[in-house]
Amino acid sequence: MRILDEKAELELEHDVLESKMESKEEKKKRFVCVVCPMGCAIDTKYADKDGEVKIKEVSGAECSRGKVYAELEVTKPVRTLTTTMRVIGGKKKLVPVKTSKPVPKNKIFACMEEINRSRVQAPVYVGQVLIKNIQNSGADVIATYEVEAWN
Ligand code: SF4
Repeated sequence: MRILDEKAELELEHDVLESKMESKEEKKKRFVCVVCPMGCAIDTKYADKDGEVKIKEVSGAECSRGKVYAELEVTKPVRTLTTTMRVIGGKKKLVPVKTSKPVPKNKIFACMEEINRSRVQAPVYVGQVLIKNIQNSGADVIATYEVEAWN
């Protein structure tokens, strides 16, 4: 009987320790959903173990699109990058550009640096691909405005 009590005690201690570890790994983030003008406040709980993120709970979203948005913000945040690129021989010195699709948030600075280092020869046309597959993100950098050549 005594052995059984000790075993039960040990199991209980193990469970308490495990739940303490879990709660240490559990993180929380709150987002304002930007998918529609309602702007719901969405709360997420997730576990981040060595960079492996697992969603545990999403609450506050009024619809499933918001839930998907919050899950992606936690697990794989992405952004569409809009900026300008220098133009050589054009009537304007800069051309507005954007990525053809959202890029991982952790590649944004590297993408910005590459765009800042780059130059494009005028003329530049709307939709022209200026950098293909920037930083291996799968997105191209495209011109969103026209710049005529200076001649
Ligand atoms: S959760 Fe749904 S209703 Fe709320 S802001 Fe996002 S998209 Fe709109």
